[in-house]
Amino acid sequence: MADLLHISHLDARHGLLPAVRDLSLTVSDGEAVALVGANGAGKSTLLRTVAGAHPAAGGTVTFDGDDITGLAAHRRVTRGLALVPEGRKLFPDLTVEENLLVAGRRARPGPWSVDTVLDAFPLLRPIRHKRAGSLSGGQQQATSIGRALMTNPRLLLVDEVSLGLAPVAVDSVYESLTALIADGATVVLVEQDLSRAMSVADRVVCMLEGRVVLDTPVGEVTRDQVTDAYFGLG
Ligand code: ATP
Repeated sequence: MADLLHISHLDARHGLLPAVRDLSLTVSDGEAVALVGANGAGKSTLLRTVAGAHPAAGGTVTFDGDDITGLAAHRRVTRGLALVPEGRKLFPDLTVEENLLVAGRRARPGPWSVDTVLDAFPLLRPIRHKRAGSLSGGQQQATSIGRALMTNPRLLLVDEVSLGLAPVAVDSVYESLTALIADGATVVLVEQDLSRAMSVADRVVCMLEGRVVLDTPVGEVTRDQVTDAYFGLG
């Protein structure tokens, strides 16, 4: 498989505080990578830096062979990078369909449309004309993933979809994500639930204090080994 994303010696900070430190990581076309690690390990900052929502303080991000380290976020979207941010960040006064259509204005050519998103997330079809701000957490999360899909991404960066959702909503969102992955989508998925992360991903990458401490195919590691890396015991 060809490398789609190549992160090399990346640093990112919040003020003086380092959040991502000298981090290198490669994601191949068609791969599903679970990014795990304790609170504050730097996962969100890493995704945001790759998406252009946070500046890199050093190192490079290469996407499909091009150095995009300094590129504006919206120009990364048109190249095929889409972030599903922590906290969803929908337009609360727009409907589900309007949230999707706004994202679609930046779309690359591709298969995703309002209709195909509603097919992939059937729970959205009956509420497509409801205001996003009035929806449940699970419905909002599905809308947020759908919004990212509307840009026809080549790489989907998904930050903690489970956060604050009822278990049944998590199951529903993951059912759709699993189908996307089975369909060949390239995904980096931040997930606190290790078992769930390992059940959907091909590879698991664990971060600790801004660094990668484990990067291995899911089939070659036990849950206990990942837990040890998670707590810095590896
Ligand atoms: P979580 O699961 O809690 O989101 P994370 O692994 O995604 O954790 P980050 O949110 O990237 O980690 O945080 C990495 C470090 O940067 C932490 O020490 C955190 O306190 C700090 N940090 C994150 N966001 C900010 C911010 N906006 N301002 C200052 N420090 C921040």
